[in-house]
Amino acid sequence: MSDLNEARAAVEGARQGCDLPVFCTFSFDTHGRTSMGVSPPQAAQAMAALGVPAVGANCGHAPEELLDILPQMREAAPDAYLIAKPNAGIPRMAKRQVVYDATPERMADLAVRYVELGACIVGTCCGSSPAYIVAVREAVLSDA
Ligand SMILES: [Zn+2]
Repeated sequence: MSDLNEARAAVEGARQGCDLPVFCTFSFDTHGRTSMGVSPPQAAQAMAALGVPAVGANCGHAPEELLDILPQMREAAPDAYLIAKPNAGIPRMAKRQVVYDATPERMADLAVRYVELGACIVGTCCGSSPAYIVAVREAVLSDA
């Protein structure tokens, strides 16, 4: 999500007719904020106020930026479960193919750091593949 009102509406909509917990992630793709100007603390506080148990970041600009975003969310919502699902970098064209700069190994190294920062739900987003999930899983579990 990029906008707090859209996120609130999405949470309300997801809760209608469903008793499952609703999680919410935001894409901080614009200088540490969402495209609508929402900061990580604002997002975490807004979702905590709605009783959303897990909040975090997906996609974004570069996976390294979550190293700055996660502590901000932790401070703003100390009881929230933190989610880290970054993209594998920014796509670019190379030989008529879309490629992403972050390798599965790089994403796995970062996933370990996300867990150290309090993330308990870790994955990947755009530009990843099953190979990324395997690498992240192996890194996180071997570090535990
Ligand atoms: Zn994505």
